Amino acid sequence: MGFMMEDLIGLNSTDIADMPIVLGESTAGNLLQRATAANRQLSVMGMHHSQGGHAMLSGASLLITETMNKVEVFQQSKTVKCGAGATWTEIHSAANKHQLAPCVQQSSAHFTVGGSISVNCHGRDPRFGPIAETVVNMKVLAGDGQVYFTDRLNHPELFKAVIGGYGACGMILEATLKLTDNKMLSPNSHVYRNLADYQQELQALAARNDVHIHYGWLRCTNANFFDHVLSVNAIEDQGGYPLTDTQLNDESWGVGEILRAGWDLSRTDPYFKDLVWRELEATQGSGSNQSRLNWLRSSVSFTASRGDDHHVDILQEYFVPLDQLATLIGTLKTLFTNNQVNVMSSTIRLVRPDTMSNLSYSPDSTKLYASIAVDVHVGVITHGTLRTLDAAAENWILQSIQAAIALGGSYYLPYYKVADRALFQRAYPAAGIAAQRDAIGSYNGGKRFWNRFLDAYF
Ligand SMILES: Cc1cc2nc3c(=O)[nH]c(=O)nc-3n(C[C@H](O)[C@H](O)[C@H](O)COP(=O)(O)OP(=O)(O)OC[C@H]3O[C@@H](n4cnc5c(N)ncnc54)[C@H](O)[C@@H]3O)c2cc1C
Repeated sequence: MGFMMEDLIGLNSTDIADMPIVLGESTAGNLLQRATAANRQLSVMGMHHSQGGHAMLSGASLLITETMNKVEVFQQSKTVKCGAGATWTEIHSAANKHQLAPCVQQSSAHFTVGGSISVNCHGRDPRFGPIAETVVNMKVLAGDGQVYFTDRLNHPELFKAVIGGYGACGMILEATLKLTDNKMLSPNSHVYRNLADYQQELQALAARNDVHIHYGWLRCTNANFFDHVLSVNAIEDQGGYPLTDTQLNDESWGVGEILRAGWDLSRTDPYFKDLVWRELEATQGSGSNQSRLNWLRSSVSFTASRGDDHHVDILQEYFVPLDQLATLIGTLKTLFTNNQVNVMSSTIRLVRPDTMSNLSYSPDSTKLYASIAVDVHVGVITHGTLRTLDAAAENWILQSIQAAIALGGSYYLPYYKVADRALFQRAYPAAGIAAQRDAIGSYNGGKRFWNRFLDAYF
């Protein structure tokens, strides 16, 4: 007897058979054997933050992995070996004792390593590309029942299919990732009123080694909507040395209470959006120095809302070659204004090329890319137990994806799915999609590990 399960924001309701807890390799192997005998499919869940039903499949068993959270740090090689269910928060605690910190992770620490590798997440350190660059090796239980050790030399086709593969070939059991020094970083900010100047700053940033965190906030208030960027850099302290066992902040946002309260109200009142922006400008570039680990611990929980019966907050993100960034911002500005899209916040990052994953969103090794993420308050409609975005939201999402593709870019895959298979095939490299299909055929031919994302696009 199954039950209905949704994404954390209350969308993509799916009938799940059951939710077994995976303790490690042997439980996972047994569950796979039983599923094969019963001809049942398995899907795998990290912390369940993706927003398109990616971790679920109708009628399948949903494997819980957060119990696979063993973490071992190796100071000399600056690496961490961890269970796929370990979260960044757990890695921070262990790495902190060795003066180390993740090279690449999301802007906050609530995600699992398995979920982060499976989406090929990107972080805010402009010196690194997506997480693919920092994966040393992985142990994977494939759909064919075998456990594979894979790295750039061993089963390289599996390595490239698992990173950013959304569980395509099987379940990641364990991964070894590169770490970097945990140093003290000082904030510094600048408001760019000319987007071409900001684009140039990103270009210059790529050649710098002292900026260890960068992000740009695109202004979302009614006045000057998408016209200004508040650029924030966290710069290595002069003579910075690795820190030993620093105090780890509670994973707070790190800015004033005005922002916290204003955010909620700004969903419906433009006055509070202005207030949030003024608070961001006043606080983001100031404040005291913080360790890298604390820069990696912002909480996003108060920005994520399941909404009411009629609304929800969703994320979407677009990638374009860096030289097209200002053009994409201009196109999105017109699109969002014409469609009265309620953008709550929008951030920009530098994205380096990645050739280590088949489904790469920055595939050209000769180019730098930029990403624009938007957090948007949208309408939902309810059909029985199912909640979907309303037609207006689906329409602007589709148009924004088409705009990114027209500029040689793509869209990020872990969010609410609007793009169909044809659009996916225009956004991602044809050779990569073909290699992904081949790898699925070789390692997971019976689709024993499967989910809604794979079902839609493969
Ligand atoms: C508020 C918010 C902020 C975000 N910020 C960023 C950001 O800064 N940068 C960025 O790149 N992304 C960001 N994301 C997207 C995020 O990286 C992905 O949604 C990520 O997958 C979440 O990790 P998770 O542990 O919740 O994975 P889940 O959502 O549980 O799973 C994601 C996918 O990975 C698969 N999977 C999970 N574990 C395994 C495993 N062990 N083996 C095989 N497959 C597995 C699942 O089946 C699913 O397809 C953000 C998302 C949210 C909601």
